[in-house]
Amino acid sequence: MPELPEVEVVRRGLEREVVGRTIASVSVTHPRAVRRHLPGGADFEARLAGRTVVAARRRGKYLWLPLDDGDALLAHLGMSGQLLVRPVGTADETHLRVRFRFTDSGNGADGTGTELRFVDQRTFGGLALADHGADLPAAIAHIARDPLDPAFDEDAFSLALRRRRTGLKRALLDQSLVSGVGNIYADEALWLARLHYARATETLTRTQVTAVLAGARTVMGAALEQGGTSFDALYVDVNGQSGYFDRTLEVYGRAGEPCRRCGTPVRREPFMNRSSYFCPRCQPRPRRGRW
Ligand SMILES: [Zn+2]
Repeated sequence: MPELPEVEVVRRGLEREVVGRTIASVSVTHPRAVRRHLPGGADFEARLAGRTVVAARRRGKYLWLPLDDGDALLAHLGMSGQLLVRPVGTADETHLRVRFRFTDSGNGADGTGTELRFVDQRTFGGLALADHGADLPAAIAHIARDPLDPAFDEDAFSLALRRRRTGLKRALLDQSLVSGVGNIYADEALWLARLHYARATETLTRTQVTAVLAGARTVMGAALEQGGTSFDALYVDVNGQSGYFDRTLEVYGRAGEPCRRCGTPVRREPFMNRSSYFCPRCQPRPRRGRW
């Protein structure tokens, strides 16, 4: 499943390869890929033709391409979605769901034009046309900014987090509080901040909140430099290059191996149908009354 840095890599690819181009035609080859566009695939195809892409934006793991008429093309990659820019005429991917040709795509004969393809093996992702969505599509307005967003409000986040009265990792995964911190990044950020995943949010100091945000930015920033983390081999970026992330993870996936700070074996515990990895010495379990 793509994590936020991978989606940001895709956004940058779209900015480079698609912004400024005018859509000539759209072909939906699997209706499930546009199921969130309620008027249907034919409407989706007809309304996008002739529109020019003016930007590539992101909120959490959602991408949108503002169009010249004030609407936007909204995309979510889901578990396995890919947005690929490929030369016209190259073989279709097995799981090609939607194809966009541009006015400068050509017919493939001269080998220079490119097209945009939405490919999704499991079709949990999808595309939709968001009316008046250029600034921010209404469907994703409830999603909080992520720690890498320049407009992220750290004071407001700190207050909201402490008011939430839940476990710290659960709060970090809550997309209405902060977006883009997935399971892997949460574990890594908590290790960097030396905080246990079940720590009660109302007991956190402002300094600790700052530390966990700094941890999240460190691990997400490192992933971004590597071109996305891509822990999932299905994920590739906008040109089909795998952004395989070879930076060593500190705790995630390292159960039983020594903590790189103190040597204590990393522990794995079940958490919300997934796992939490942590160092029991660096990140001691909170005890009642201790905090
Ligand atoms: Zn440790």
